[in-house]
Amino acid sequence: SFAHVKQAPEDAILGVTVAYNKDPSPVKVNLGVGAYRTEEGKPLVLNVVRKAEEQLLADRARNKEYLGITGIPQFNKLSAELILGRDSPAIAQGRVITAQCLSGTGSLRVGGEFLATHYSGPKVIYVPSPTWGNHLKIFPLAGLETRTYRYYNPKTRGLDYEGMIEDLRAAPNGAVVLLHACAHNPTGVDLTQEEWEGLRKVIRNDKQQLPFFDSAYQGFASGSLDTDAFAVRRFVNDGGETFIAQSYAKNMGLYGERVGALSIVVRDPSVAARVESQLKLVIRPMYSSPPTYGAAIVSTILSNPALYDEWKVELKAMADRIISMRHQLFDALKARKTPGDWTHILNQIGMFTFTGLNKQQVEYMTKEYHIYMTMDGRISMAGLSSRTVPQLADAIHSAVVK
Ligand code: PMP
Repeated sequence: SFAHVKQAPEDAILGVTVAYNKDPSPVKVNLGVGAYRTEEGKPLVLNVVRKAEEQLLADRARNKEYLGITGIPQFNKLSAELILGRDSPAIAQGRVITAQCLSGTGSLRVGGEFLATHYSGPKVIYVPSPTWGNHLKIFPLAGLETRTYRYYNPKTRGLDYEGMIEDLRAAPNGAVVLLHACAHNPTGVDLTQEEWEGLRKVIRNDKQQLPFFDSAYQGFASGSLDTDAFAVRRFVNDGGETFIAQSYAKNMGLYGERVGALSIVVRDPSVAARVESQLKLVIRPMYSSPPTYGAAIVSTILSNPALYDEWKVELKAMADRIISMRHQLFDALKARKTPGDWTHILNQIGMFTFTGLNKQQVEYMTKEYHIYMTMDGRISMAGLSSRTVPQLADAIHSAVVK
């Protein structure tokens, strides 16, 4: 029987949308989930995605056969090139194995399970504190002991670089280290290029640890695909082993199509074929093979220079709108003379601002202003518009002064 089954709590992030949907207020604003919205507050399908879909639809030779276990080979090649660069030595040397997976989440899960089965080092993964909540659920279920390293300093609302380095030095040699490639979620706090280099030396030289990059926002942070891949390329170009989970949810707006990739960069090309063969054994009993449609859209765009260029323009426009929301919100708080230093709204990177507001303040803003966000005070800047900035600024102001 199932009489003993307990009611589970709503997901900390997706539960915000559940609560939002129940609110009948016409002025409600959902700043919970990290999904891009237009100035009008509507979901956006990129023009370039529509064009790719038209091409796919017109191609009568396409069928609905199963893909192979690791997906569309062309998609895998293009995805590796997107994150590592077209001129990546690791790709040229045959050291990169890529598998199309179910968006970022699926890529992390498959990578985690592969490590739990095949990694020769300690089966322990270190994730930043705080991190995207799902990391803490994905990796234990994949079979990796999951621990945290210091990352965010609430006092400065910035990076705790010393704490991070200290914790990784104290972690076992060879441990896996989860790193957000750019636009850290939920804090919006990233390492500088110098800090990345310092971290790389510790991970590679001192501790022989294994970096596992979660790249969910390439192009979304700075507006440039190459800039946002800086850290990943720095690590891969030193010749060491690296895992990378890529998501096309945000940067192509393909959220519900569940399209992403896991790349495993090995040191010695002679192990690549064996690693790939075992990766297939991880995937086959999980879901056999990935879905075709989203990856076909991505392949169409990445393989066509005109579409690729158009994508970059649309991606930059999304990134720029988010950055402009940062300025508008900052200015609105300044105009209201809201107590506190709000410069972190300008300095944090990517989709989210980690406001520093506490649970009581968040609950107050939801109750009085119909603004929905996660309890840790994270707001999705991508869900904001010129129309809703004043409402949010009023809400923050009265939550702070009350
Ligand atoms: N990692 C991070 C840090 C994220 O923020 C997200 C999206 N919220 C993901 C991974 C994966 O998302 P998806 O599975 O939709 O690609």
